Amino acid sequence: MGTTSVDVLTIGAGGGAYPAAFRLASAGLTVVMVDPKGVMSGNCLAEGCVPSKAVREMAHHMYRSVRFREFGIEGGSAVDYARIVLHKDRVQKTRYAQHQKELEAMSNIRLMKGHARFLDAHTLLVDHGKGSERIKSRYVIVASGADIFIPPIPGASRCLTSRDFFSLNPSVTDIPESLAIVGGGYIGVETAAMYRILGSAVTVFESSEEILGGVETSLVRELRSLLDPSIRILTEVSVDEIRKSDCGFEVRYRKRRGPEGRESAMEVLFVQKVMIAAGRHPVIPEGTERLGVGIGSRGILVNPAMQTAVPHIFATGDVNGITPLFHAAVRQSIVAAHNILGGERSCDQFDASSVPTTIFTIPAVSYVGITEDRAREQGLSVLKGEYRYSEDSRAQILGEPGGGIRLLFESGSLRLIGGSVVGVDAGNLIGEIGLALSGGMTAYDLARFADQHPMASEGIGKAARSLL
Ligand code: ADP
Repeated sequence: MGTTSVDVLTIGAGGGAYPAAFRLASAGLTVVMVDPKGVMSGNCLAEGCVPSKAVREMAHHMYRSVRFREFGIEGGSAVDYARIVLHKDRVQKTRYAQHQKELEAMSNIRLMKGHARFLDAHTLLVDHGKGSERIKSRYVIVASGADIFIPPIPGASRCLTSRDFFSLNPSVTDIPESLAIVGGGYIGVETAAMYRILGSAVTVFESSEEILGGVETSLVRELRSLLDPSIRILTEVSVDEIRKSDCGFEVRYRKRRGPEGRESAMEVLFVQKVMIAAGRHPVIPEGTERLGVGIGSRGILVNPAMQTAVPHIFATGDVNGITPLFHAAVRQSIVAAHNILGGERSCDQFDASSVPTTIFTIPAVSYVGITEDRAREQGLSVLKGEYRYSEDSRAQILGEPGGGIRLLFESGSLRLIGGSVVGVDAGNLIGEIGLALSGGMTAYDLARFADQHPMASEGIGKAARSLL
């Protein structure tokens, strides 16, 4: 078997890989991207953020149109789910075609369909089904992402996952009459919110005290007050078994704390479908463990330059578990590219503190930077600027007065260090707040800016002015 030599090999061709591949190729380096899917873009487009939001936006539209019925605007009657799936599939195909064109327009990059594993720190074997190819690379970017974690619950492997709902030509083509979701993290709760609106009777099973672990307590509390109250959320429960029954599934569970702090008796919920949404785990390519790069509980360990303990090996995106979000992977990918181009010295660093997160429930919740909980834990002295949507013109126009905007400033300098939005336009507004935060802006800067009226963004300036 011959060996091909390249400057850079990326393991994966998703968000952690292709921005670097393009940056490096345009600087004249030869790049190979390896991915078993054989297409550019990873799980986000294949079964994650893009297709789930294509369905979510339809559900959100329905949520609004149901409310607008009182003004004589029809909508929200029968849902043609097959057409929603068609729309989702079309979005995915459009984006795949777009990425293909981008790739074709770029010289120096080869996308190989296959599975990569390390033979040594510079040599990888790419298995492409009908054989394999050995590639030697000066640099390697490990961007192999994360995969769905299936917990060891008897029967769990027979259940649905987000893949069954959101991949191209998904196996779920009807809205389940009843849906049990095992896991109250962001995927579980987003799915619960959208399928409840689309018509499923939804029950979420969460083993912790509260859903959305890791999210600021006050935000979760506020979100819960705005979520459709008919979504059944069971916390502190352990699902013991999922059995197939004649017309669906039996979810066997116990309330973890009974009146005396003991487990309660087994209870059973009968549902048509069960979805497992119990988290994701990093995908560590075979052979990585022999290289001495360092692997922690969340994934491959890296410094802020995205470099592992082996200086020519970088790890970007979900595989390092720092901020498992597509846009963070993109930024990390560019950081890795800059540091490869920069040689021995790190010339760019990833700043996790300014990456915005949105939980696309209906309504959504967004946040960036430091949270109130964390500020309190760290004993930081902060000032909070607040704006409630009950006062907001756009929220009133839409008839969605719940939630609002909160900004946290370092006391003294009044530098923006954190922000959150619950409700109207949360996913958009957090971009403006995140940009202000990463640019080091203060309450004075935000207060001076003439945010547009009558848009929810004017609440950002108002929240800042509430302190001045
Ligand atoms: P990230 O956003 O972190 O880059 P993605 O999910 O977008 O994550 O992309 C990861 C990609 O890596 C997926 O498309 C997956 O198929 C691919 N992948 C995982 N393991 C390997 C491997 N050993 N060799 C090549 N590609 C891999």
